[in-house]
Amino acid sequence: MIEFHGSHLKPLREGFVPIVWSESVPRCGSIRVRAHTCECIMPSYELCSAAGLVHIRRTVRSAEGTCVSESPWLRTAAAHRLWESLLDGHAR
Ligand SMILES: [Zn+2]
Repeated sequence: MIEFHGSHLKPLREGFVPIVWSESVPRCGSIRVRAHTCECIMPSYELCSAAGLVHIRRTVRSAEGTCVSESPWLRTAAAHRLWESLLDGHAR
């Protein structure tokens, strides 16, 4: 994994799975970011783990401010599959 420059998402594919994004609410103290996409393209995404679960955080930074939303919290394997689908354009 290259730390300085995250991955770029592949273009969205036909028949992609919509991810249910909800407003990000702080639920627990320590969130570890396991992977992230490049911030040169908005929104940027981060794979986060906290409290034994993993979720994806979506961040849009604009002149109006920063908007953060998050995917459902999933078990590690399911969250990693979702992350791969996101990067490959199969989910967004
Ligand atoms: Zn980039």
